[in-house]
Amino acid sequence: MAIHERSLVEQERILRKERLVVDGVDVSGDWNLIILPRVIEDYDLDFAKEVAESPDGKTITQCYQCSYCTASCPVHNYWDDRYNPRHFIYLARLGMVDELQKRADVIWRCVSCHKCTHRCPKGVLVEEVLKVILRAMAKRGLIEEYPSKKFDKFFTESVLEYGRIEDGELLLGWVEKQGYKLFKDPILKKPVPLIGDAPLWLKQLMLKPIKSMNVGFLMLNAKHMLFHPRTKNWNKFKQVLRKAMEEEGALK
Ligand code: SF4
Ligand code: SF4
Repeated sequence: MAIHERSLVEQERILRKERLVVDGVDVSGDWNLIILPRVIEDYDLDFAKEVAESPDGKTITQCYQCSYCTASCPVHNYWDDRYNPRHFIYLARLGMVDELQKRADVIWRCVSCHKCTHRCPKGVLVEEVLKVILRAMAKRGLIEEYPSKKFDKFFTESVLEYGRIEDGELLLGWVEKQGYKLFKDPILKKPVPLIGDAPLWLKQLMLKPIKSMNVGFLMLNAKHMLFHPRTKNWNKFKQVLRKAMEEEGALK
């Protein structure tokens, strides 16, 4: 039987009288507290199996619910106590995906500090296991895709296309993808930084390094943004790389 933090029990299942005397014995407050049982019928044991059988998720079976991970998690302690790695692992092992889904708004909040993994006495790779749980949920359409994965895809496509990274173009392209209308030059249709509807933080971010660049470097950057250079013979290599990545499922 796992120990549950009281905050995880639904309020309507907790019965507690502030003042209660039974046969002359004072059983006020927590002495009379009862948690009503519940019936759970929505197990998805395939879910638990999928997590435990994946290479990154297999250490989930070693968890003995001590809660060291949650006690050391900064997201749980300083942001939102509904983010609870121990509890997520508990629910995943039971295949209680509906309960996991109730926490969809906080479930992506891990900041990858690895404190949980470092503190776990049972060698559970907590962060990796949590990521596997999230991937399995996203696959079933229970939660949205990991927000940073959208950027990863965009980044991968950019590298695949050119065989190199062009920071400015990557940043502006991503900002455009978020719905900002960027001003584009009329000939090459490339976004022009610092003009248009770009958010103020972005303009400030771009202005700072520009101010400290020498003219030659500035011109080189501008040229790269306008005429994106490619790695030599990249097209042939790109085809092979794309095929290999598709076969590995790395482009999903
Ligand atoms: S610290 Fe390790 S064993 Fe303890 S609850 Fe977290 S994952 Fe499980
Ligand atoms: S890696 Fe994520 S889950 Fe683990 S302690 Fe850090 S924020 Fe919490």
